[in-house]
Amino acid sequence: MTTREIITCVLAFSLLGGCAKIPPPFLDEYVSIDLFIENGQVLDGLGGAAKAADVVVVGEKIVFVGDAQFTAEDLGSRIKKRIDANDRIVAPGFIDLHAHGDPFETPEFENFLAMGVTTITLGQDGSSPEVAHLANWMEQVASNGIGPNLLMFVGHGTLRTLSGIGRTQTPAPEDLERMLEMLDTSLKVAFGMSTGLEYNPGLNAKREELLALARVVGRNDRMIMSHMRNEDDEQLEDSIAELLDQGRFARVHISHLKSVFGKGADRADELLGLLASARDAGIQVTAGVYPYSASYTGIDIVFPVWAKTVEQFEVAKLERRDELAEYLRNRINRRNGPEATLLGTDPYTGKTLAELAHELETPFEDVLIDVIGPDGTSGAYFVMNDELQARLLTDSFVGVCSDGRATGFHPRGHGTFAKIIEKYVMQDKVLTLPEAVRKMTSFAAGVLGITDRGVVRAGMVADLLVFDPARVHATATYPNPLQLAIGFDVVIVNGNVARQDGQLGDGLFGDVLRPGT
Ligand SMILES: [Zn+2]
Repeated sequence: MTTREIITCVLAFSLLGGCAKIPPPFLDEYVSIDLFIENGQVLDGLGGAAKAADVVVVGEKIVFVGDAQFTAEDLGSRIKKRIDANDRIVAPGFIDLHAHGDPFETPEFENFLAMGVTTITLGQDGSSPEVAHLANWMEQVASNGIGPNLLMFVGHGTLRTLSGIGRTQTPAPEDLERMLEMLDTSLKVAFGMSTGLEYNPGLNAKREELLALARVVGRNDRMIMSHMRNEDDEQLEDSIAELLDQGRFARVHISHLKSVFGKGADRADELLGLLASARDAGIQVTAGVYPYSASYTGIDIVFPVWAKTVEQFEVAKLERRDELAEYLRNRINRRNGPEATLLGTDPYTGKTLAELAHELETPFEDVLIDVIGPDGTSGAYFVMNDELQARLLTDSFVGVCSDGRATGFHPRGHGTFAKIIEKYVMQDKVLTLPEAVRKMTSFAAGVLGITDRGVVRAGMVADLLVFDPARVHATATYPNPLQLAIGFDVVIVNGNVARQDGQLGDGLFGDVLRPGT
């Protein structure tokens, strides 16, 4: 016993008649304990094995992890909420490296909370809210309330639009200057810049512009989160090289790393090798993947660069129709055919392009031209190879993103983080549970530059999960993609119960995060 404990014991003896009830020393510092999670198997998020421990939370912070040894008296009087983990896993809440959605439309984002995600990142693929001051928009989100925590990226495409550059290939010097200034200002509140080089208007940007932007990002100690120029297998080396070039000035991250039409673990190893040698050369590069073999995006992804926008498309339809039809026929066939394109926007929702073409008795390329058009729908495209994607996931510098949204017609928005545990940990055993949790917590926090979340440790913010990995189940499917994941019994956001046993808590507890806080 320490002197302090002896004194406490003597006091306790005289007041209570015994030395059995000694509150742990840290308890003295707090008038009350807001949350006590007892009997957990704690995975700290750093990759080590689970350890039996209690977790004590005061306000939004974890104040103790270990054997709390609370007495019955403490439990009755000073603990506001008590959760018996009963040997289940207690882990940091998951951080989604790349998500989509509108916090004003679906502020609760239950799809994310239900799969254990306590922090989402929006402003992806080059597109962030088209507002003059991102900081004001973020304040509005915060005052409106949001279920998980939110952090923002500023979109390169959006900056192009706001600075008047639009789809111009080579911006005028004064426009470029304006865009760089806007980026600089936005990076005070955003965690980085996102690019969407496969989409308009970002696809018009050339090397010089991208390097100028990267310098500003690096100077602010932020990162570039990139949907690369082209994800087709034979284009990947070029796409990665373009991003690594920017990586000389700022940290870079490949969003939803995939190979469209590529196959096999060996191909994944080639790509991972490229990233590893870049890291050896001093470039800070990481990537994220989602665990599905179909991508999901606007149908313009299959249209040629000269017919992606409605204006370009109308011209192409009149002047280059045969060429356009042939391009679409070849591209769709290359992407595993019209059966592998599942449409996700009404009135086509749930039909494949093949089914729609059959229904209309029209060749699918003509359906794309005459019925749908480049802005007519979103779709799921079954273009990826499971073996290749699974190998990517095992790399220690590859994390997890859903790329999903609350309303998207693709199961990734409701299933990703559950599927990682259900399939890759429990069924296929390609990841251990501590490693999977590390990827989804401390690794993601490190990528984003978050220093106070992603680890279960005293002093960190209490974003926490309680779950039994054997019961985690991603129920979302391609035909029914909007079904909530099950198995994350308790989801704590900033010390509050955001969701428990399938029910949302009595409030929106997410914060809008700022970098460096
Ligand atoms: Zn993307």
